[in-house]
Amino acid sequence: MTAWKQEIEDRFRLQHQREDTTLQRLDSSQGRIAAGYLACLPRTDALTIGDAEFSMNTRLRLGVAPAPKLPTHCVCSEPLSDCYNHLLACRVLCTEAPGQHEGGRPGMRNWWDLRHRLILERLTADLISANVGVVMEPGPLDPRRDGDMSAPDQLITYQATDRQAGVPRCVTTDVTVHETVTGALIRSRTSVRSKLNNEATAKHRTHGEASRAAGCNFVPLVFASLGTMHPETEKFLNLTDMDIDERLLQQIGTGRRMFTATVLDGISCALARGNARILFRACAVLQRAHLARLQHDRAAVGGNG
Ligand SMILES: [Zn+2]
Repeated sequence: MTAWKQEIEDRFRLQHQREDTTLQRLDSSQGRIAAGYLACLPRTDALTIGDAEFSMNTRLRLGVAPAPKLPTHCVCSEPLSDCYNHLLACRVLCTEAPGQHEGGRPGMRNWWDLRHRLILERLTADLISANVGVVMEPGPLDPRRDGDMSAPDQLITYQATDRQAGVPRCVTTDVTVHETVTGALIRSRTSVRSKLNNEATAKHRTHGEASRAAGCNFVPLVFASLGTMHPETEKFLNLTDMDIDERLLQQIGTGRRMFTATVLDGISCALARGNARILFRACAVLQRAHLARLQHDRAAVGGNG
C-alpha cells in the first residue's frame, strides 16, 4: 500500500476506533477484487454491471440501507440498522432455492449457490479462453459421497502446465463466499482474517484429501462478500503458477498482465452481481412483510375505532 493510502486508512481507523461494525466493514472490503467492480472499464458484458447492481454493492460497502423504507428488523428479528450485511447471510431469507426467472438453475439449493455459480462460471469461461483445461463438477471426488450429486459441491478442476516443473498440474477449487460483517462475529471479536482462515481450513478438510488422491492440488476460493480474499485464493487467482500460453494471450488481445486483471475484475463483477441478486430478493421480501404489518396495524386501529 502506498504511504498516502496508508495514512488515510490510519486516520479513518483512529476516527472510527469505537465502531466495530465500521472497522469490520473496512477489513472486509480490502484487496484487489473488492474494488474491481468499482474501477474496471466496462469493456465486455462480464465486466459490466447494471446501475442497480452497482448501487446495491456500493451501499453495502458504505453501510447504507440497500433500499428505502426497510423495516428496522429482519423477518428473523435480527436488527438491521447497524448492519445490512445480515441480508446476505440470513437463514430465513437466503435458504430458499431461487426460481428460474430469478436466475436459479437445477441443483441450486439456495441464493448462495447462485452467487457461487456466477463466480465459478466467470472464472471458468476466462480460463477456457486461455486454453486451460477445465472440468466443472467432475463428480464427487470423495468416494464416501457414493455418487450422490443431489447436493453438488460445485467443485471445478483446472489443468494447466506447472510453470516451474513443466508438467501438467491439476488444481481443484471450490468457491465459498462468507459474510464477515455480522453481529455474531463482531460480538465474538473474530477478525475477518481468522474467519476466512477457518473457512479455508474447513474446505481443505472436506476436499483436500480426496483431491490429493485424485492427483490434484486443492485451493479453496474463499471470499468475504465485500471482496476480501483468503491469501491462498489470492495467490491462485494471480495465476502466477499456471503456465498459460503467452502467444495465445497476445492473440486474444490481452497479454499476461491484462489477462490476469480481466480475470480478477470479472470475478469482482460476478461477486457484485451475486450480492445484488440476493439483496434485491431480500429487500422485496422485507418490504412486503413490512407493508403487510402496516396494513395489519392499520386494520387493528380501524377495528378499535
Ligand atoms: Zn434475517
